Amino acid sequence: MRPPPALPTIYGETLDSLTALLKEHGHPAFRARQIMTWLYKKRARAWAEMTDLSQPLRAWLAATFELEPTKFVLTRQSEDVTDKLLLELADQSLIETVIIRAPQLGVGQENSRKTICISTQVGCAMGCKFCASGLEGLKRNLTAGEIVHQLIQVCRQEDDRTPRARAELASFDNLVVMGMGEPLHNYDAIIRALTILNAGWGLGFGARRITLSTSGLVPKIRQLADEPLGLRLAISLHGATDEVREQIMPINKKWPLKELLPAVREFSEKHGRMVTLEFILIEGINDSLDQARKLRDIAFDLHAHVNLIPYNTVEGLPWKRPSLTRQEKFAQVLDRGGVSVTLRREKGHAIDAACGQLRLKTEKAREAATAL
Ligand code: SAH
Ligand code: SF4
Repeated sequence: MRPPPALPTIYGETLDSLTALLKEHGHPAFRARQIMTWLYKKRARAWAEMTDLSQPLRAWLAATFELEPTKFVLTRQSEDVTDKLLLELADQSLIETVIIRAPQLGVGQENSRKTICISTQVGCAMGCKFCASGLEGLKRNLTAGEIVHQLIQVCRQEDDRTPRARAELASFDNLVVMGMGEPLHNYDAIIRALTILNAGWGLGFGARRITLSTSGLVPKIRQLADEPLGLRLAISLHGATDEVREQIMPINKKWPLKELLPAVREFSEKHGRMVTLEFILIEGINDSLDQARKLRDIAFDLHAHVNLIPYNTVEGLPWKRPSLTRQEKFAQVLDRGGVSVTLRREKGHAIDAACGQLRLKTEKAREAATAL
């Protein structure tokens, strides 16, 4: 067992903050860039690998920072399409990072796109009724460094698949902030992490290929609209009326549609990009044609794209996905109404790809093992 975290991780530092720290401790400022190269370009696993740094500097780094804030526990694969990495943090919390190696969106897009999905919290405080991540509430926020390190683990995983070619993050098409947790409930850490991922001295991943998904924290959506990063935004709508939405998403009581939709419009107008409305289809809850028509009107009005996601069953929860015919009828209403819509063919159902499920199972297994 590892002791609780005593040191902050170096993956939470920006070039500026590391430069300032080095200066403060009497080390040359230009070393910061060298260190970033070791972290992000060479992906060093030990301070000792950083051979062009002096011994005293390496000793200072080792005494000041944690180098491996997440530990790889296991991967589960589904039909060579989805890899789910389970990672353990220093306090033994578990998080998930998913690699999807197939068209994630849309029907008939058979080009092979690679998407990474990262987590932002251990658990989630939003309590959506259908979601495994929220079942046991929020355990804690991830730090910016823990968020960044998930991507380092993804690159290592890719290196292992193709041993001769070094995997670069740029070879991935998209990064989605749709794993465990509500990213806008951990605002400062996610913005810092995405800044590091985006920076040339960091992982150099284009912000326009990053999509952040939120359950709808209205003031934070407004704040996000003013960030210079230029991310894409997805909204977990899941109900086209307050009545349906608040049945499954408690956040709708605090931020109902009349507050949420204008904030989404503002974001979309400021960025000049389409926002995505995510809509999980749950049988008997939100899959009526009346919901489809109302969703069509909302999306048309916002000039938003709609991503329909057949519900992934969660152990212990009563919800189910509707039949394929029902899903297609729902999609047709939107399509015929001139709305850009995709119906996701869920990849990774077999390996619990919906957020939080693998972690929950592993935690339960762990509890059972310690209870013996
Ligand atoms: N908290 C953020 C991001 C993480 S959840 C949010 O809610 O947007 C990412 C997406 O997975 C959300 O759209 C969420 O509603 C969806 N999701 C959660 N549980 C699911 C399930 N069992 N089946 C399908 N999608 C699910
Ligand atoms: Fe949290 Fe998103 Fe799951 Fe809702 S859907 S409980 S906001 S992770």
